[in-house]
Amino acid sequence: MKLKYYEIDEDELLKKIGDEKRVVIKLPEGFINYSSKISEFLSKNGIDAIIYASPAYGACDFVSVDKKTIFIGEAEMPYLKNKKIEFVEARYEYEVKFLEKVVDSVGEKVGLASITPFIHKINDAKKFLEENGKIVYIGKKSRRTKYDGQVLGCDFSSATSIANMVDDFVFIGDGFFHAIGLAIATRKNVFVANPISGEIKKCNEMKEKLLKQRYAVIAKAMDAKNFGIIVGEKKGQTRYRLAIEMKKLAEQHGRKASLMMANNITSYIDYFDFDAFVSTACPRVAIDDAMKFKKPVLTPIEFEILLGEREWNNYEFDQIL
Ligand code: SF4
Repeated sequence: MKLKYYEIDEDELLKKIGDEKRVVIKLPEGFINYSSKISEFLSKNGIDAIIYASPAYGACDFVSVDKKTIFIGEAEMPYLKNKKIEFVEARYEYEVKFLEKVVDSVGEKVGLASITPFIHKINDAKKFLEENGKIVYIGKKSRRTKYDGQVLGCDFSSATSIANMVDDFVFIGDGFFHAIGLAIATRKNVFVANPISGEIKKCNEMKEKLLKQRYAVIAKAMDAKNFGIIVGEKKGQTRYRLAIEMKKLAEQHGRKASLMMANNITSYIDYFDFDAFVSTACPRVAIDDAMKFKKPVLTPIEFEILLGEREWNNYEFDQIL
C-alpha cells in the first residue's frame, strides 16, 4: 500500500494483526491523511481499525496498552518490546547512485547514518561509497534502535561510536533535525543526502542557526526563578531520575522547581505559574516546538548551561540513551 512516497507491506500488516478483529492504528503525522485508506483496507479483511486520534510520535510513544496496537511507519524500539504492540515500517524505495553527488565533498573516511524509512538501503549505500574509493563505517545499533546506523532525535549513539574514525558523516534522510543533532553530537561535518529530492546539502548553516536560537532561549530563561521540570508520560520518554536531578540542581542554585507530568507537551504549559520549563521528555519538544511556547522550554543540558554547570562550548543535544 502506498502512503505518500512510502510503501507499507500489506501482508506484513495483516500478519502482525494476526487473529485480532479490532486493532488500534497509530500513525505519524505525515500519514494521518491516509487513515481512511488503511481503515478501508482492514475493513475489507474483516478487521475493525480504531485510528488513534491523538498525535503519535516515535516508537517511544505509548502509555499503557490494553488493545492490540499497530504503529505504522516506525521501527520498533527493541527495549520496549510488548506483546500488544507491533510495528509495520514504511519504506521509501530509492537507488543509492544519487550518493555520487557527495563523493567529491567528503573525506576518505565516511560515517553513515540514517532513519526509517530510508535505513533499509544503508548497506547498499556503504557498498556504493566503497566502490567510489571511500572507507565507510556504520555504527552499531543501541537498545533504542533496531538497525545499525540508525539514529533517532534522542539517540545518536550509533554515530558517536564511530565519530573518531571518520572525516565526515553522510546522513541519508529528509529534514534537518537529525542531521543537526548528528553534527552537534559528533562535532563532524554532516552531509544530508535526501533520497526523495536527490539533493545533497551540508547542514552547517542550519546548525549555526539552531545554536543561535537555543542560546536565545537560554538567555530568555536566565532570570527565571521558578521552573517546571516536565517528566514525559510516554513510556520511552520517561526520565524521573533526571527530572529529580534537575530539581535538586535548581534548588542548589537558589531557584525554585516543581515536577510536572505530561503526555503531549503543548502550549497549555504556558498557563502554569512557572517562569520557564525544563523538559526531560522527548528532546525534540524543546527544539522543534520552541515557537509554540511563550515561556522558555529548555533541555536538561541547556538548564545546566543556564545554571553555570556547563560551558556553552560544551553544548550537546539531549539524548535518551
Ligand atoms: S523520544 Fe522523541 S526523538 Fe526519541 S523516539 Fe521518541 S519522539 Fe523520537
